[in-house]
Amino acid sequence: MMNAITVKNLTKYYKKTPAVNGISFTVAQGEFFAFLGENGAGKSTTINMISTILEKTGGEISVFGNMIGKDDDAVRADIGIVFQNSVLDSKLTVKENLYTRASYYGFSGREIKKRIDELRENFELDPIWNRNYEKLSGGQRRRVDIARALIHRPKILILDEPTTGLDPNTRKLVWDHIETLRKTQELTIFLTTHYMEETADADHVVILDKGNIIADGTPAQLKSAYAKSRLIWYEPQTAENDMLLEGFEYTYQADHYNLFFQGTITEFLYANRSRITDYEVIKGSMDDVFLNLCTATSSSIKT
Ligand code: ADP
Repeated sequence: MMNAITVKNLTKYYKKTPAVNGISFTVAQGEFFAFLGENGAGKSTTINMISTILEKTGGEISVFGNMIGKDDDAVRADIGIVFQNSVLDSKLTVKENLYTRASYYGFSGREIKKRIDELRENFELDPIWNRNYEKLSGGQRRRVDIARALIHRPKILILDEPTTGLDPNTRKLVWDHIETLRKTQELTIFLTTHYMEETADADHVVILDKGNIIADGTPAQLKSAYAKSRLIWYEPQTAENDMLLEGFEYTYQADHYNLFFQGTITEFLYANRSRITDYEVIKGSMDDVFLNLCTATSSSIKT
């Protein structure tokens, strides 16, 4: 599959301080890519360089084979970006905002109308069509922002922390909408977020910390490498049981053992199937991955 985005040894210095410190990663066409990191990790700096808004200090970026610094117009044609702070005019209606934005792309009047009618339908904008942007709810605004970013039919949609500041219900609605887009429009989605749970359904996650990539893989790979799972074994604590768990990290609590492990525990369970009968296994989460990585590393770890 073709790479939508290839980043090699990318750096950005502000004076002498590196905000992005020589990172390399790829985003495959059609994938849901999540770029995860705490505030100040360098996520916005990176996407601003990818979308040609900010000049890089060093390294290479190509978007569908077009090099940034050489073919910037072609790169911009392939990228739609939803910024944390909307670029729409709060005093204009949804309709006026979309028509104004569409006029920047040099389409004919007929093309503009056709595209905007499509977006109006896909994004269910009818009920808010003639309402001023400033009068919309947080979730409605995000919907219009995303529609705006897709006017020129880009192949990649970059979403910079699209759900920050939204309440959990609205976050879910916006998220459902992005899911539908992925499935129906064959878009490559590039999401930046500091919410771990938003990366659980991603195809590919890169974790950034202080301008460095500290992990790169699928959620499943990252979980098995960095998150401990827990086996809960309901059994009284006895010396014999303790002995069975020797070599493992474990605790005893009220009426059960907690045994912590990385990867799988199938073999151990099978070998002890006559004794370990009442149990449950709780898999490590992306939250655990992030906590483990960010407390354990300042150097670079890769899967
Ligand atoms: P994130 O998007 O992950 O929150 P940013 O890319 O915004 O992180 O910031 C990365 C680092 O670069 C931070 O330490 C931030 O303070 C610094 N930074 C960002 N923009 C500028 C700027 N215009 N001038 C100086 N430092 C900046």
